[in-house]
Order: sequence, then structure tokens, then C-alpha cells
Amino acid sequence: MLAYTYMGKDHFGLVRKGKPVLESPDDAIVKVTLASICTSDLHIKHGSVPRAVPGVTVGHEMVGIVEQTGSNVHKVRRGDRVAVNVETFCGKCFFCRHGYVNNCTDPDGGWALGCRIDGGQAEYVRVPHADQGLSIIPDSVSDEQAVFVGDILSTGYWAAKISEIDEGDTVLIIAAGPTGVCTLLCTMMKCPKRIIVCEKNPDRADFIRKHYPDILVTVPDGCKEFVMRNSDHDGADRVIEAAGSDESFRLAWDSARPNAIVTIVAMYDTPQILPLPEMYGKNLIFKTGGVDGCDCDRILDLITDGKIDTTPLITHRFALEDIDEAYRIFENRLDGVIKVVVRIP
Ligand SMILES: [Zn+2]
Ligand SMILES: [Zn+2]
Repeated sequence: MLAYTYMGKDHFGLVRKGKPVLESPDDAIVKVTLASICTSDLHIKHGSVPRAVPGVTVGHEMVGIVEQTGSNVHKVRRGDRVAVNVETFCGKCFFCRHGYVNNCTDPDGGWALGCRIDGGQAEYVRVPHADQGLSIIPDSVSDEQAVFVGDILSTGYWAAKISEIDEGDTVLIIAAGPTGVCTLLCTMMKCPKRIIVCEKNPDRADFIRKHYPDILVTVPDGCKEFVMRNSDHDGADRVIEAAGSDESFRLAWDSARPNAIVTIVAMYDTPQILPLPEMYGKNLIFKTGGVDGCDCDRILDLITDGKIDTTPLITHRFALEDIDEAYRIFENRLDGVIKVVVRIP
């Protein structure tokens, strides 16, 4: 089968590999029908994910059809159309039982697919702990509607959930990239008083204005002042930072009101500084880290009910054979790209 592979730093390639086989009774083999490219794939390509194993098939956002299941798999069966969770988790350890599935202590726990074990920018993928990691896609939901469920949409859902958003809140979301837009969609479901999106890229700012006209849009320069003018308590009640730069990190806590919740879901290339003397008395609550992707079934229900639609994010579609070109467009942010999907026949 064809599999897009991390060959070494700055080099991915489409190579032929053997079809994956069941390695444990908890595994399922999924025939991938649609995969997408995520910014985390680029982090692997550029060598900033030390855990990534050279030779691994990349890709951790995909949907497909169950081809084969191990004897312990009960949730899905051959022929089911499924969304694959970015995180594989056992469902039994201390962290899983508390919903912190990102910290699952199993050897395959957390983000393994397309990083430490073969992922889904390929014709087939082996999914460990399939009862936890696969969600059945209802017939009324298309592959394109479901493809982000296991990763960026899970991240947006989790970000909005842990931010404890109330109806009177002003919520600032920093960045309108793919994760930022998913976060926006999930924040909108919480019905806060106001949502402000901060985005410096004019195309992405226009995307928000066009698709979500009720949302206030600002740019990093002057963002703090904009939030001050458009909030009830001299700053945002909730800030969700999904950009991942030094500037956006500072903006996140600086635009927050005292006693706000600041949720950091961005991935940074460098350590960030908390200038505690400047922040003294602001009494912020920080929540940080990587998604706990344990709400995929719920998210699919919301898509089925028409409450979430991420299809406008898909700006480009390619065949697996043309995946190098798909990466070139995505990586260089050409042609107004937001998300690229790869179709696998
Ligand atoms: Zn990702
Ligand atoms: Zn676990």
C-alpha cells in the first residue's frame, strides 16, 4: 500500500509498505477514505516533535471503513464507517478513568498515531484500543463533515469545555487557523455574550467575517485595546490561545481581565515567559496543554444535529498520489488554504 512517510528531518515521501495487520486483540484495521494534513505533521517534518520516529507513516486526522477487528473489539465491526481519534488510550488507567486520556499510561497512550506508530496518510491504518479510538459515523454525516472529529475539532471542543464559559462572558480566541475556527464553533455553542477573534492574516480574518458575521474580529496590533473597549470588565473573561507565538502568548494573558481563565491550546516552538511581577494581582487561572480527545461520539452527535459544521474549513482536495503538492500548498499557506484533505480511493 502507499503510505506518506517521515523519512528524516525536512523530508516526507510517499512509499510502498506492507498493509498493517492486527497486533493485539484490541486493534482494528481501518481502510482510510479521507485524511487531512495538520500543522502537527509539519512540526514532525521540521524535527520539532522529538518523539516522532523516522520511518513512521504520518497523518493523524482521518476517517475510513473498518476492515478487520481483533477479538476484544466490540464497539465497531467490519464495514462500519468510522472517525479515528488522534489519541489512542486504554480507557482503564487512572488518567483515562478521569477523562485525561492524553496522559494515558499505556505504551500506545496519547498521541501515537502518525507520530510513534504508523498513521493515516495511507491506504490502511492499524488503530490500537479501537473501542476507545473509533467512533461510528452516522449515515447522514459525510466523510468531509467527520474528518476533523478526532483531532482539531476535539481540540476546539475540549478548549471550550475547560474554559468554563458562561453566558455573560466575553471570550477572546487568538488565531483563526483551523484549530482556532474549531474552537470558535464550539465556543459559539456555549452562547457567551461576545466572542472576539484576533487574527493577523487578512484572508483568515475575512473568512471569519464571511462565515460568522456576529463575531468581532481584531488584529494583534491593538487587540488588547479592542478587547478593553468590547468587554464589560476591562478585559476578556475567557481567553483561548490557539496561535502559538511569543506575541500571542503575551496577548493571551495581557488581554484577560483579573481572575480570568486563560486556556492555552497552542503548540510553541520555544519556551514562553510568565512575567509574574507584571501579572501580580491579576490572579489568572491558566489551563494548558494537549487535547483530551474523549468526546468524539458527542461531537459526531452535534454534527448530526447540525450544530457544528467544519466543512467550510476544507479549501483544497487532493488524491493520495498528489500528497507532496498538498503539503506544498498547506505548508506555504498558498492560495488561501485553510485545510487540505487527501482522498484515498
Ligand atoms: Zn493534529
Ligand atoms: Zn489509559
